[in-house]
Amino acid sequence: MSQTILNIALDVPLNRTFDYLNGGFTARVGNRVVVPFAGRNMIGVVVGLSETSDFPIEKLKTVSHVFDEVVFDSATFKLLKFCADYYHYPLGQALISALPLRLRQLKPAVSRKAFAYSLLPNADLSQIPAKKVILHRIITALQAAPMQGVAELAFISSGWKKTIIELKSLGLVSEHEVMAVKASMPTSSVEPTLNGEQQQAIQQVLALTHTFKPWLLFGITGSGKTEVYIQILQKILSEKNSQVLVLVPEINLTPQLEARFRSRLSQYSLVTLHSNLSECERLQNWLSASTGAAKIVIGTRLSVFTPMPHLKLIVMDEEHDGSYKQQDGMRYHARDVAMVRAKQQNIPIVLGSATPSLETWHNSTQNNSQKQQYGLLSLKQRAVDNATLPNIFCIDTAKSPTENGLSSLLVKALRERLSRGEQSLLFINRRGYAPVLHCNACQWVAPCMRCSARLVVHLSQKRLKCHHCGHEQKIPLQCPSCGNADLHPTGQATQRLEQTLQTLLPTARIARVDRDSMRNKHALTDLLTKVHNQEIDILVGTQMLAKGHDFPHLTLVGVIDTDSALYSPDFRASERLFAQLMQVSGRAGRAEKAGEVLIQTAFPQHALFQALRSQDYVSFANELLQERKVMQFPPVSYFALLRAEANDYAQVNQFLNKAGNLARQFLTGHLKQDILIYDPVRPQMERLKGMERGQLLLQANSRVALQRLLKSWMPQLRELPIAAKIRWSLDIDPLEF
Ligand code: ADP
Ligand code: ZN
Ligand code: ZN
Repeated sequence: MSQTILNIALDVPLNRTFDYLNGGFTARVGNRVVVPFAGRNMIGVVVGLSETSDFPIEKLKTVSHVFDEVVFDSATFKLLKFCADYYHYPLGQALISALPLRLRQLKPAVSRKAFAYSLLPNADLSQIPAKKVILHRIITALQAAPMQGVAELAFISSGWKKTIIELKSLGLVSEHEVMAVKASMPTSSVEPTLNGEQQQAIQQVLALTHTFKPWLLFGITGSGKTEVYIQILQKILSEKNSQVLVLVPEINLTPQLEARFRSRLSQYSLVTLHSNLSECERLQNWLSASTGAAKIVIGTRLSVFTPMPHLKLIVMDEEHDGSYKQQDGMRYHARDVAMVRAKQQNIPIVLGSATPSLETWHNSTQNNSQKQQYGLLSLKQRAVDNATLPNIFCIDTAKSPTENGLSSLLVKALRERLSRGEQSLLFINRRGYAPVLHCNACQWVAPCMRCSARLVVHLSQKRLKCHHCGHEQKIPLQCPSCGNADLHPTGQATQRLEQTLQTLLPTARIARVDRDSMRNKHALTDLLTKVHNQEIDILVGTQMLAKGHDFPHLTLVGVIDTDSALYSPDFRASERLFAQLMQVSGRAGRAEKAGEVLIQTAFPQHALFQALRSQDYVSFANELLQERKVMQFPPVSYFALLRAEANDYAQVNQFLNKAGNLARQFLTGHLKQDILIYDPVRPQMERLKGMERGQLLLQANSRVALQRLLKSWMPQLRELPIAAKIRWSLDIDPLEF
């Protein structure tokens, strides 16, 4: 057998591949292999085959094993190669981290059969005792969708297996092998008659398939965007050998979306890919996407890299959402990666949002003459006939002062809703507004010793916690600085607001929605059910509530604090705030009842609120774009951020200065005008987890110029002798500063 040399990518922080002898194994590009590396066995991926090596053949080691499965097809490989280049991240690490965890282990990928379950049409449910809660939950789920997979059932209860066996023995449920799910499953929900705008949007997209074409589906919440996606999918999937990738921000926050896709597209096998799955499910789902068996993949940002041999369309819902940006490892933005993927595979991509990111807006409007324009599809009306837009008012906190965070006008409005049996939602923008422990005598505020952050009071657990590094401690009885025993939490977070409300409105049934109260898997689903059954009067919560949930009896949205974001040093803060407030306003008045939004602010005249009042994203976005042009900020320029941290800031500063000087050496010819290199500065969060942090910003007037500089700079930066333990990373198109 002839010796072949395998070029293998490994999960090591070096920007190169490694040559090994095939040792009699037959290997193909895309195969997983096990190789000896630095005294241990590692998983690698074959990225090339050759006859020769730059190293002496006799010194090459031999692969220990080659697994049969090809984990990357050429399209996915090409995409990851592009990302490794663009984000200046080692290819091996980019490849390996795109695999499900199970495929990063030194084991073969065992593909077990996957099953799904459906309720038999003539099932007699009257025989089931009412006290069997899990059984009833699972039946309810099976009634809602014609077919439920293992992942969905596990989401409902960890005891689902026993329950399914019981249901099968009662003759109520039948089992199907998932790959065999084909037509003939009944569609349970009705298809609404599309309005003109929806019809037009669908027609335009379907007129240009099999070619790269980006679309922005721009429509307020409730304008029927999801309906548009569904009908586009129905058409595209009806062609032979079609797959569709649907990207969503955080799937566990949008169970309704998944359920709608499942019931409306029930004849096509659908898998989800997100962090709430077990590793085994994730592997199964990933494999069924990569074999082409799963026709629809709904997933969060990492699923943008899932191999899909018959991919015909990408849909990205809520494209403006910050969770599409990966914040460590390879810091990719799933929207940008999806765009590249669509281009490489020559397929259309639909981005949907009520408040598009300025990047996308810039590409979709006349502002921008040089670039590939995105097609703009606008849905201007709410889809449901009698749903009206909410009225938005500001409560001037200078005239109507707040007590414990609430103005009397807002409390009055809450009371009115309560007496009418309608629901209210209080929205807190928690960033920078969590309750801290404060000493009135000496103004001491409990700090985190490891971060430049304040500890947050968790009264129910009687503890102080750092939300950045996880540090926890007991609430001190006295001020450590002056000995004063009268310490108070200040600031208005969800827990405290809940208590205040309960005192003011003792009869109200109040529910709090934040990361703490929603830790349990089913907590959110259970809560949503309660809201629908009108067992709750007031919801208090953070961003989690702003996502696309439908609350037909909700008529009031109160916004507690936003002012810190109005004047934030982060240039994207007002863009984000506008998006959040639009989204949360969309919760009010979705059914027949008109909604009202009350915003407490000290700056009622601010342009942001004026735009919000007239629900005028377009002029607000255009104004922001104008500002960005004046300031030369993204999207009219391109940033790269070099971050560094160490125990000692002097070392960080020294490293960043060296790095900056090195980069300046490459600023020759055109690059001199195209790129600006700033001096090192400290970020807003100066210290994190005990590390002192610094950053160096590069600003360029084109991506090409920036990439040219990075190509010369990065290899030399990696070689730079570093005095002490400095950790650094590069963030292309950073979102946080
Ligand atoms: P979005 O995704 O923009 O928030 P949805 O697609 O969820 O909007 O639509 C909002 C509601 O209106 C849903 O309950 C949906 O079933 C309904 N709907 C959508 N399109 C129509 C239509 N053409 N006629 C009637 N109802 C519709
Ligand atoms: Zn004190
Ligand atoms: Zn901390």
